[in-house]
Amino acid sequence: MNIVLLGPPGAGKGTQANLIQEQHHLTLISTGEILREEIKKETPLGLQVKKIIESGQFPSDDIILELFEDALKKMKDTGVILDGVPRTLNQAQKVDEIFKELDIDLDIVIQLAVEDKELIKRLSSRMICKACSASYTPEVPPRKEGVCDKCSGQEFIRRPDDEPEAIKMRLHIYNEQTKPLIQYYSKTNRLKVVDGMKPVKEVQAQIELLLSDLQVLTRKSGCLYSAQDI
Ligand code: ADP
Repeated sequence: MNIVLLGPPGAGKGTQANLIQEQHHLTLISTGEILREEIKKETPLGLQVKKIIESGQFPSDDIILELFEDALKKMKDTGVILDGVPRTLNQAQKVDEIFKELDIDLDIVIQLAVEDKELIKRLSSRMICKACSASYTPEVPPRKEGVCDKCSGQEFIRRPDDEPEAIKMRLHIYNEQTKPLIQYYSKTNRLKVVDGMKPVKEVQAQIELLLSDLQVLTRKSGCLYSAQDI
């Protein structure tokens, strides 16, 4: 099962990607996470992209696609969840090409739909675990106060790209460059929309329903794209 999560910053892609990964043991490729790691380690790539990312902009398609292809080639024999890639039409076309070369089917694109006002609220209150980057807000706090659910880390930081100016920039870029992907994927019947305004557990349940339909369908037909409506 190979999945793309699509949605504006703050829609809950990272949150849901982690939940899907736990449930289905897929490989998670989050280009944002890879880049934040590179920045933390001060690698040549990290130093190159630091300023760009922290101002709310995104590195070039070439950088993203190279990271993506590297991560994909390291993938064991599992399916994959893509979070943060593709983000432009050009990236989406290249991802399709790379998948085709590697004989991977993109089974489903899940769009998390969330209103701008809610996105701004979430991003401006988001804190991430310094050790593993799991993210929290006052509405979605760790189960135990001050302790990360995922790695038990106890230090939380703000992402530099969650500052107000950077948030504005990222939402603008999303509307300009990423929104066209909704049409790109719906034209090829790969898009499913989920109400991302709902609480995390409800969003997860909506996604699980889509994924279980998908698994039934894949078992039945062995071929997904022949089915028009899941
Ligand atoms: P993205 O990866 O799309 O930028 P995140 O998964 O980091 O989004 O979510 C943004 C913030 O909103 C996080 O701090 C997370 O805890 C919170 N969040 C995620 N999903 C929901 C939800 N369904 N309702 C309320 N808050 C959420």
